[in-house]
Amino acid sequence: FDVLAEADPDIADVLLGEIDRLRGGLQLIASENLASPAVLAATGSALSNKYAEGYPGRRYYGGCEQVDRAENLAVERAKALFGAEHANVQPHSGASANLAVYAAFCEPGDTVLAMSLPHGGHLTHGSRVNFSGQWFRPVSYGVAKDTELIDYDQVRDLALTHRPKMIIAGATAYPRLIDFAAFRRIADEVDAVLVVDAAHFIGLVAGKVIPSPVPYADVVTFSTHKVLRGPRGGMILGKGEHAKAIDKAVFPAIQGGPLMHVVAAKAVALKEASTAAYASYAAQVVANAAALAKGLEAEGMRPVSGGTDTHMALLDLNQRATGAQAEQRCDRAGITLNKNAIPFDPNPPMVASGIRVGTPCVTTQGMVESDMAEIAGLIGRAVRAGGDDELAAVGADVERMVADRPAYPRS
Ligand code: PLP
Repeated sequence: FDVLAEADPDIADVLLGEIDRLRGGLQLIASENLASPAVLAATGSALSNKYAEGYPGRRYYGGCEQVDRAENLAVERAKALFGAEHANVQPHSGASANLAVYAAFCEPGDTVLAMSLPHGGHLTHGSRVNFSGQWFRPVSYGVAKDTELIDYDQVRDLALTHRPKMIIAGATAYPRLIDFAAFRRIADEVDAVLVVDAAHFIGLVAGKVIPSPVPYADVVTFSTHKVLRGPRGGMILGKGEHAKAIDKAVFPAIQGGPLMHVVAAKAVALKEASTAAYASYAAQVVANAAALAKGLEAEGMRPVSGGTDTHMALLDLNQRATGAQAEQRCDRAGITLNKNAIPFDPNPPMVASGIRVGTPCVTTQGMVESDMAEIAGLIGRAVRAGGDDELAAVGADVERMVADRPAYPRS
């Protein structure tokens, strides 16, 4: 850090500011985590310099013997941890992993069936503002109005009607388990490729606390920085029969040189995620999310679908505030979370009627169920707060709460 502070005090100041922000508040964004110092060390390393287009043993550049070792370790660890026949660890992000999958299995104009954005799907699942909705023909399924669970009858009806080339299971704001076997049956019925976008929950699969999509899906895509607690990046697991198509789609179809520092950091994260300590962490993430959802229910919010099986909960604010207001008020009290549309939301996405909360960060900080009850109370107070004084009082309580368990404690 001293080297950076000397070379570029402005950026050093940004780093310090961000560390202070993390240490002084509660991070409840469901898609974020606090990567370990070892993961950060690999990410900020000299491996960043190396060009390594291609794959280990067949690169387009010399001098790849060290980065080859890193990539082989990442691939072997991913295959072992998830029981996958093939792993590609080069995608720069979750969105890049998904783009590669479209490139591997679809032609422009092909029909793809995936979860609708307003019901929790990701931009890469067919949104009009994304390549997936512009270059392909998206058909969307959603959740049933009464249960707020994925409507598998609707998925099947749409699949039979539209005969998609590819079906994507997985979402960005869906707190429940997904029935991968049901998706497999539907995909088989219409001869579609089944992709599971496991970006949000792959860390829980690594920790063996929720079922794995790997036995069911043709390929599984994910980002590596969410519950999994790796560096920012993406990954694709798959059946051996798709290995060639996936590797060709990642490079040379959609990417150039892989980020070898990030590939190395992915290897570190996969090693960490293979430990008993990580399995306990993943179990605590889920227990904490359930406790947080329950606590927020006691604060007058309604957990969408009645609760959660994962690391996140989606809360209907019951019109006590809009999602945007809740996000802003919490922000001013040092609680970082995001507004989120709820299924069949009458408000536009930038306003939204709900919030999404996740427990990966606070669980990394060592918090448990009793802390979640306290956090729920703080969120409730912030959302109800009438003015600056009340928000400042909540903020002071947040600081008190995190003081003995800050993110990145000073050693
Ligand atoms: N897929 C899902 C389900 C996601 O939730 C996200 C990100 O939140 C992505 C893909 C994209 O990941 P990235 O932001 O790394 O591109």
